[in-house]
Amino acid sequence: MTTATATKYVFSFGDGKADGGATMKNELGGKGANLAEMTSIGLPVPAGFTISTGVCTYYYDNGETYPEQLRDDVAAALEKIEKAMGAKFGCTENPLLLSCRSGARESMPGMMDTVLNIGLNDTTVAALAKKSGNEQFAWDSYRRFVQMYGDVVLEMKTLDKKEIDPFEHLLEAKKEAEGVEFDSGLSAAGLKELVKEFKAAIKERTGNDFPDEPLDQLWGAIGAVFSSWMNDRAMVYRRQYGIPHEWGTAVNVQAMVFGNLSEDSASGVGLTRDCSLGDPGFRGDYLINAQGEDVVAGIRSTKRVEESLHDDMPEAFDRLNEIGKILEKHYKDVQDIEFTVQHGKVWMLQTRNAKRTGFAAVRIAVDLVNEGLIDPKEALNPRRIPADDLNQLLQPIFDPDAKAAADAEGRLLTKGINAGPGATYGKICFHAEDAEAQYNADNDVQLILVRRETSPEDLRGMQAAKGILTAFGGASSHAALVSRQMGKVCIVGATELDIDYQAGTMSVGDKTFNEGDYISIDGFTGEVFEGSVTTKPSEVLDVVIHKAGDPEKSETYKRYAQLMEWVDEHRTLNVRTNADSPDQAAEAIAFGAEGIGLCRTEHMFFHHVDEIREMILAETKEVRQKAIDKLLPYQRSDFEGLFRAMEGRPVTVRLLDPPLHEFLSERHLEEDPALAGQLAKMTGKSEDEIHRRVEGLHESNPMLGHRGCRLGIVYPEITAMQARAIMEAACAVKKEGIDVHPEIMIPLVGFLAEFKDQEKIVRAQAEAVMAETGQKVEYLVGTMIEVPRAAVCADQIATGAEFFSFGTNDLTQTALGISRDDYGGFIGYYREHDIVPNDPFQTIDFDGVGGLMKIGVEGGRSSRKDLKIGICGEHGGDPASVKFCHSIGLNYVSCSPFRVPIARLAAAQAAVSQG
Ligand code: PEP
Ligand code: MG
Repeated sequence: MTTATATKYVFSFGDGKADGGATMKNELGGKGANLAEMTSIGLPVPAGFTISTGVCTYYYDNGETYPEQLRDDVAAALEKIEKAMGAKFGCTENPLLLSCRSGARESMPGMMDTVLNIGLNDTTVAALAKKSGNEQFAWDSYRRFVQMYGDVVLEMKTLDKKEIDPFEHLLEAKKEAEGVEFDSGLSAAGLKELVKEFKAAIKERTGNDFPDEPLDQLWGAIGAVFSSWMNDRAMVYRRQYGIPHEWGTAVNVQAMVFGNLSEDSASGVGLTRDCSLGDPGFRGDYLINAQGEDVVAGIRSTKRVEESLHDDMPEAFDRLNEIGKILEKHYKDVQDIEFTVQHGKVWMLQTRNAKRTGFAAVRIAVDLVNEGLIDPKEALNPRRIPADDLNQLLQPIFDPDAKAAADAEGRLLTKGINAGPGATYGKICFHAEDAEAQYNADNDVQLILVRRETSPEDLRGMQAAKGILTAFGGASSHAALVSRQMGKVCIVGATELDIDYQAGTMSVGDKTFNEGDYISIDGFTGEVFEGSVTTKPSEVLDVVIHKAGDPEKSETYKRYAQLMEWVDEHRTLNVRTNADSPDQAAEAIAFGAEGIGLCRTEHMFFHHVDEIREMILAETKEVRQKAIDKLLPYQRSDFEGLFRAMEGRPVTVRLLDPPLHEFLSERHLEEDPALAGQLAKMTGKSEDEIHRRVEGLHESNPMLGHRGCRLGIVYPEITAMQARAIMEAACAVKKEGIDVHPEIMIPLVGFLAEFKDQEKIVRAQAEAVMAETGQKVEYLVGTMIEVPRAAVCADQIATGAEFFSFGTNDLTQTALGISRDDYGGFIGYYREHDIVPNDPFQTIDFDGVGGLMKIGVEGGRSSRKDLKIGICGEHGGDPASVKFCHSIGLNYVSCSPFRVPIARLAAAQAAVSQG
């Protein structure tokens, strides 16, 4: 025989002493660890013990059996409870009753099983009745126990909602027979009969008698709780929240206390401060003469602790407030508690850090610092304020009640990829020109631009709309990145949408909507609703961006500003923005951007599409040059605007990147039948020639086609024009007395030779412009790292490039071989089936793309020690990706203006956690 191992499986708590504590969540689960902790700090907790998560792991590894020593350990722990509570389990005079509850490391509310009132049988029930002086209470407890045990342990719970639940059926019949509305109205005699009927139902269904022996009942309950770790809803929940199946649950066995004993007893739940907006003060729900399950079941309407408990039970009210303060002081965070009042005495059944909204998270963190409970560094802990939740302070959101009502009314139509946060509603509009026209007629018009996908010429329509909804495309598709840059609410890849431009309809399943019908979109969640759902504006935005609110009068703004001050004290990573207009640049600065990390020059071209098309159709160098010369002044003045807005901060300007057919393709000619004629007239060619040239531009895989630096290499005059425009603008703005730091960035480089080719043209223009203007401007020439070859050969490329910026949108699509525009159709399936942990176009694929980035950083700095390296793909605004960028030593992240505060917070959190 093997001797018992030294492993401790059972941890007792009670009488002011506990074997465990709050730091032992891994072994004891959240509930068990906090019950132990509350006991140790002298709070009133019914005595009990926790069977560790290790037993759960053992149970599943060993054919649903327990470690040998467990029975003895449980027996010993049971004795301790008996001593602490002055009652005996199974005793016929003074019986101890037990509860048995689950408790995993992370709370999984309602996913696993609970059994209450263990220890009752035909003998102990009589003792309970005598002891409590309340026969009705004793038999009601027994009735509940038999029902719960039958449901949970004997698996009689009906899974099919249409099937009749035998217990509920009998209960209803009894209530009808006695003419009472609530369970609590049943007489002791009726309850006695019910217990008998329940037991008969158990015998009939399972073939076995209900177990009368208390110890058998206890072991049955323990087994049921361990088994419930693997029930279907628990598994679904764990998948959703990334909780590993291997963790297992602990089991908490605890002495029962009763909120349903008398009129001076109650059960309740509470929060030590409000978790929706963060207001201070204890609040909660309770029911007099009721069990905890009645409070959450919603059958009887509950009373508010802060409104009436003071009058109902003044001592319990004071004690609860006092306990709330002790808990907050001890845990240094807002707590979510469960309590029972038994004959006026408060008992604590649970405490845990409360879940909260983004608004509440900021308020509570700032308040706790001001109250001296935590320091600013701790306030930045991502557990307190997940960086993404800051979004809730920066964007309009749906009014929570209005959204819940829309949900309840079945108005949720479909879900897509949440690409631009915020919430809005508006009239469906299918065409960018129509949106623009409607906006020009009425600047307050509420429109949602609904497209299969967006393309560059939709830009003005996107500007006019409040929100953008597309059927295709992913998180870094055109619609997504442009919307984010503009701060628009956006959902992409809503593949269930069937959009018919000709008919002017959008269908989802059997519902069809016309142009002008209202829909609402939630860019935080990707949800699309029928009709309009009311929104709430952001106070922070009013102050920071619209300059409308008074900063002194907005408490929300003041707390935001305080938080961001702490953020900037702690972060080491710089945060820039992706912007290509002075407006966007100004917004980004207001949000704290320290430079422009990516100006996509093609976005400036969309306002001069005629000249671009002339350039594209040119067949000789001279004709092309003439068209390009027309673009130069536009580009120059755009860059001047940017340099002025950025007031000396670095500005990274990327040379032309997209394939030319984004400006002119067969689709353009089809959508606008007059276009071929206009172009023929403009260029002196025939319409046939125009069609032939456009056909020649067609590429079957345009993302890997003639784009990026490949354009500037084949058409050097484009690069020369852009470099000249940038430097002329820089010199002109410098002359005005404003400092300028242009950084010229070559896109899609894979070979050092590509970089050198372009660098030569850029430097020649820069030197020429400086000589012509007599101004000296310090400028850098660098490259994007956005194809795997560039990362692998970074050491070579860094011999020429003065800075790197990871273009993780293209690096993801080229490394994964997944098109950034076409993955919407399967990514949802991939996520649901755990094939990928995240959408790789939203959060960096750390092992693959991240691995290439590490190689790129090491290679680049091996050739150029102080190489400045940033990231300008959409991942630059994603907190988990920002953390990764910090860890591999990037100098900055660059993201859309509205994500700048989030990236700042994420950078500070990375610095605090990684040092
Ligand atoms: C990228 O590829 O990550 C990038 C920033 O460039 P674009 O999205 O414009 O291709
Ligand atoms: Mg790119």
